Amino acid sequence: MQALIENLVKLQAIELNRARLNQELRALPAEIAQAEAALAAAERQSADVSSAIEREDSLRTRLEREIAAHRKKAAHFREQLDSVKTTEQAAAIEHEVQFAAAEAERLENEEYASLERSEALEAQLAHARAQVERFAAEVDAVRASVAARKRELAGKLAALDADREAARAAIDPELLARFDRIAKARGAAIARAENQQCTGCRMGVRPQTWNQLRNGELLTCDSCSRLLYWDPAMTPPAPQLAPDPAKASAGRAPRKPRPAGA
Ligand SMILES: [Zn+2]
Repeated sequence: MQALIENLVKLQAIELNRARLNQELRALPAEIAQAEAALAAAERQSADVSSAIEREDSLRTRLEREIAAHRKKAAHFREQLDSVKTTEQAAAIEHEVQFAAAEAERLENEEYASLERSEALEAQLAHARAQVERFAAEVDAVRASVAARKRELAGKLAALDADREAARAAIDPELLARFDRIAKARGAAIARAENQQCTGCRMGVRPQTWNQLRNGELLTCDSCSRLLYWDPAMTPPAPQLAPDPAKASAGRAPRKPRPAGA
């Protein structure tokens, strides 16, 4: 009976280990996706700043064209001033000159503001490009570490598969089928009884059941249906007041044994 229980407990440990490793394996692609998403966001940010810089550039090209046109217009009106006959004409042309010059000045201020924006954008672009480089390196690093962990997990799983086959081969097929059914429903198929409780569901076991378990029988928990066993090696040691490991072996008289499981 003890060997059977040991095999079942071992099989369960293997199954839980396999489930954990498989879960770890399934979580790996998400790490790459996360790093790639961060890189994509940085690339978008960099592209956005680049197009903002281009927009400012073409805005200034247009402004310069318009400024030149207003300056030319002002010069043209100034030339006309030389040939005017009346003060009314002179005043009207003077007005045109002033208007054209004021427009040119207004557009020059706009151009200056655009230059200032471009300067700030250039700084943003340098930062965004550095971010892109950093996240690209990060993606490479994550890919490499994920690949390494995949290999490592695959190796561990292969070893576990061999252990699993060996453990299963040693268990009676009918019991194995029951074990698999419970494992599928409950995650763990076999639970240790401890302090007259099933450690799987924390429900108490009947005194009669407890006695049978203590005699090494493999039973079923009434509450959760898991296979239930008792492990003499897991019996809690008699409580001690934080023993000092240095003094533990210093020739103290052996403690009076307590009744097991008390
Ligand atoms: Zn139970």
